Amino acid sequence: MNDDLRALIRTIPDFPKPGIQFRDITTLLLDPAGLAACVERMVAATEGPVDLVAGIEARGFLFAAALAVPLRAGVLLIRKDGKLPGATIAEDYALEYGSDRIAIHADACAPGARVLLVDDLIATGGTARAAVRLLRKAGAEVRQAQFVVDLPDLGGAQRLRDEDIAVSALVA
Ligand code: 5GP
Repeated sequence: MNDDLRALIRTIPDFPKPGIQFRDITTLLLDPAGLAACVERMVAATEGPVDLVAGIEARGFLFAAALAVPLRAGVLLIRKDGKLPGATIAEDYALEYGSDRIAIHADACAPGARVLLVDDLIATGGTARAAVRLLRKAGAEVRQAQFVVDLPDLGGAQRLRDEDIAVSALVA
């Protein structure tokens, strides 16, 4: 069903490191019909009312904003640590080598806010799972996450489902 979108995503070998097949969604963003289809399908896949759409830096921001407008929700930015100007709460997560840290403004969401998590792609799920921990630490109710691309062989979507999140992706 989403073969039209799959055709708009290209694979760049050996980026950012040798051996990595990077799924490049910039070609999908350049295509007006593809971008519109992507947003419409993600909106249609959203379950129930949502107060905030949380996007993960940086490509997740694009989809979070595009979904938030028709869903009549606000946008919550999940940024790399050190980028937000106000008081923040942060969460660390492991990378293949080392670790990284993401943050949100401490007052970004009211306790019980219904938050939809959005990013362009889920691979190992490390980033998205850290985002869920961070949002839940802030008191948010996070029950669903959406991605343009899922790389199922890396198991991230399943790990997120194991944490009681309904996961959907347009291209797998
Ligand atoms: P994970 O934490 O699930 O292993 O990696 C997902 C995060 O890294 C997302 O924020 C995503 O934007 C980025 N990422 C990892 N691999 C790719 C890729 O092949 N293509 C794109 N567009 N993003 C990727």
